[in-house]
Amino acid sequence: MLRLAASSIRSRAPQVGSRSALRCYTTHEQLPEEHQMIHEMCRKFADEELAPNAGKWDKNHEYPAAAVQKMGELGLMGISFSSDYGGADLDYLAYAIAMEEVSRGCASTGVVMSVQNSLYGGPVDKFGTPEQKEEFLMPYATGEKIGCFGLSEPGNGSDAGAASTTAVKTGDSYTLNGTKAWITNAHDASTAIVFATTDKSLKHKGISAFLVPTDAPGFSLGAKEDKLGIRASSTGNLIMEDVVIPASNLLGAEGQGFKVAMTTLDAGRIGIAGQALGIASAAIDCAAKYAVERKAFGSPIAKLQMVQQMLAKMALARDSARLLTWRAAMLKDTGKNFTKEAAMAKLAASEAATMCAHQAIQVLGGMGYVSDMPAERHYRDARITEIYEGTSEVQHLVIAGNLLKEYEQ
Ligand SMILES: Cc1cc2nc3c(=O)[nH]c(=O)nc-3n(C[C@H](O)[C@H](O)[C@H](O)COP(=O)(O)OP(=O)(O)OC[C@H]3O[C@@H](n4cnc5c(N)ncnc54)[C@H](O)[C@@H]3O)c2cc1C
Repeated sequence: MLRLAASSIRSRAPQVGSRSALRCYTTHEQLPEEHQMIHEMCRKFADEELAPNAGKWDKNHEYPAAAVQKMGELGLMGISFSSDYGGADLDYLAYAIAMEEVSRGCASTGVVMSVQNSLYGGPVDKFGTPEQKEEFLMPYATGEKIGCFGLSEPGNGSDAGAASTTAVKTGDSYTLNGTKAWITNAHDASTAIVFATTDKSLKHKGISAFLVPTDAPGFSLGAKEDKLGIRASSTGNLIMEDVVIPASNLLGAEGQGFKVAMTTLDAGRIGIAGQALGIASAAIDCAAKYAVERKAFGSPIAKLQMVQQMLAKMALARDSARLLTWRAAMLKDTGKNFTKEAAMAKLAASEAATMCAHQAIQVLGGMGYVSDMPAERHYRDARITEIYEGTSEVQHLVIAGNLLKEYEQ
């Protein structure tokens, strides 16, 4: 179905810069038919297959393997990849909409999908050679294999240009040494994109990106991190001790790695904004349903104005963050610069998720604090969206830096 929607979206795709390219959608009902179809498909999938299992997966730290396989069949594991390599070839607006719905059902499944689409598949699709795409994109677009993105290290996260992992070229191969930290999908991935320095003296301009098979000799994994939230997704260290890979596994040009990473994160932030919107929506659903059923002082608590105020604040934060997220996606889809807007979307959506989850617990009272209800999971899941793919402080720096450029020229 996604492929059908894709060809329809492509045939009606506005020319970059044309008046119709500037059209901005503000509600699901206004979306083109194809995007509404994707929304409905993901909504049904989330309600029927993710939400009923999310609590169990979280409790058991269980990777949602069957759901990920199903997402591959639905075309959700390679939404924006080229159809020549098995992808659904859809735009980022469709991706943001799908990410929100999937994450509303299960935020852990959302991050698996987000890493596969934007952090792993995105750079392979954009910077890979046809041979690399054949090997490293095709089986990933269908969800048969999982990828991960290794940028952060134990000694540096926000300061990604300070990578200490090294890659030394000898003849037709590179030898990699170092450790990547906090890597999502680490324990489920067949290939890792690893950022390593080929020339330390050039600082961030000496970083290159490599496609590293996780079964290569010398490659091992650290223990699974015991996390606060998104507990059904795996996170851990990638450890490389004299890992030899063919020179043809260099992704992009030598020294282009930092650019590959930053370009990837710009797009990735739209996916995380979608994940955060999904968590916010799940929290609103949970709080509003409870409020109309729970009675206090003889009537539903939904009648109490202070409860209504909490719900209103939640809806306001979620809806405004969604507009920012769709704007960033539509700018990307029409070939415009979207760095600042993606940072705004991620910042607003992650703060909305944290606030909505916090308020949902308040609306539920004691029931919000125990695992019988999903509110406490949303509260734990929301927090990570303010940290990964650039902390909130880093998003402020990106926004201010881009804003000031307009005044400093
Ligand atoms: C569950 C999870 C999954 C993750 N998945 C991945 C993944 O798949 N791939 C990957 O590469 N990484 C991943 N990460 C790493 C994540 O991106 C980093 O944790 C994040 O970028 C922050 O880096 P750090 O933890 O080293 O914190 P630091 O960079 O040490 O920051 C610590 C504090 O200092 C602040 N700070 C740092 N620099 C500045 C500055 N210049 N101005 C203002 N404040 C600043 C930060 O905002 C933060 O509050 C993941 C992390 C987690 C927890």
